[in-house]
Amino acid sequence: MAVTALLAVGPAAADPVTDGASSAEVGSAAGTYGLAPDLAAAYSLAEQEARWQGVPLWITSGYRSWSEQQSMWDSAVAQYGSPAEAQRWVLPPDRSTHVSGTAIDVGPYEGAAWLEANGSTWGLCRTYANEWWHFERVTVPGGTCPPMVADAASR
Ligand SMILES: [Zn+2]
Repeated sequence: MAVTALLAVGPAAADPVTDGASSAEVGSAAGTYGLAPDLAAAYSLAEQEARWQGVPLWITSGYRSWSEQQSMWDSAVAQYGSPAEAQRWVLPPDRSTHVSGTAIDVGPYEGAAWLEANGSTWGLCRTYANEWWHFERVTVPGGTCPPMVADAASR
């Protein structure tokens, strides 16, 4: 199949992708590439269940390289005016769980809300009160998610 044809198909297409690798191939912002194996496996199962239930869910940002995160951090500091304010939304690469491959940002909102309600089945939890899209594997499958912290700076 032509790559260009695949790239033309977005994640919201009628034939939804069912795994992160395919998700990356069809041109969504990110897949499970570079994620810790336990997170990738847990998310893939969650996404599959979401699809079965007709809920749209995909990764908007997963693993980020050190340089990608550094670039985001630099932009955030410029945008928010100070490291103290910027770190509420973006962390520098040495502190980011995206760089360590242990965090995913998901969308759209409907899918994220579904994952917040159901993710603990696979150990996936929303971790920041100010980021409805950010999830990490911070409990065991079927466990209880720890209370959210206010924001990334609170960690
Ligand atoms: Zn995130």
